[in-house]
Amino acid sequence: MTLKLTIGHLYPDLLDLYSDRGNVMILEKRARWRGIEVDVVRVDAADAVDLRSCDVVVMGGGMDREQSLVARDLQVRRTNVEQAVASGTVVLAICGGYQLLGEYFETGSGERIPGIGVLDVYTVAGERRMVGNVMAECDLDGQTETVFGYENHSGRTYLRPGTEPWMRVVRGDGNNGGDGTEGARKGRVFGTYLHGPLLAKNPRLADWLIRLALERQGVQERLDGLGDRWEEAAREHLARRMAELDGMESPHVGTGKK
Ligand code: GLN
Repeated sequence: MTLKLTIGHLYPDLLDLYSDRGNVMILEKRARWRGIEVDVVRVDAADAVDLRSCDVVVMGGGMDREQSLVARDLQVRRTNVEQAVASGTVVLAICGGYQLLGEYFETGSGERIPGIGVLDVYTVAGERRMVGNVMAECDLDGQTETVFGYENHSGRTYLRPGTEPWMRVVRGDGNNGGDGTEGARKGRVFGTYLHGPLLAKNPRLADWLIRLALERQGVQERLDGLGDRWEEAAREHLARRMAELDGMESPHVGTGKK
């Protein structure tokens, strides 16, 4: 039986800061390389797409203006996003997209852009933009995974009590530059500030999301390794450079530490 993965790409033109669309390409490629068929469904504003048809939905980041433009369309999709999440669809949203999955984003000019509240977080712009390379850690199947990314946001995101952060910041600002948290997760919905594109820099995270998306079809797939020699070399390089910039010793990169 050929497996098939359907990826929904929300607002590919408006939310694509730092080529966040690369996340879709990585999911697509890494699934195809394992012989999994992939269908990428592009969802622009006003497109009639039932997101329950998608195993995974990806949304990138955007500038305040672009976020305002998509916010209204997203409100119309709110119930459908909730239905998709209830059906087991995995959602990955980056930066501006992450903010819109929360309750609201109050911009520096005082405009309050409404989100759809599938994550119990809210965002308020601060004076200082949080810009730079980030190193964070998240849990993947009980193992600590080092995650690399790049952040550039004015918004400070705060998690409501009971909301789980997705990652812990090792270097960088993450959600708000204050509490050491990065991103948020609720069930199969994941939000993060990390551009990169995130999944290009973090192949194990990409595979983990593919496995989660396949589980929705009742498939427990043990994805074969792809070698990832170049990806690992790039990650080692990133870790070294970040450590050099900090004047610190290079930390261990990868999985294995509990
Ligand atoms: N416009 C938002 C902010 O500045 C999100 C930016 C982004 O997606 N990188 O906080």
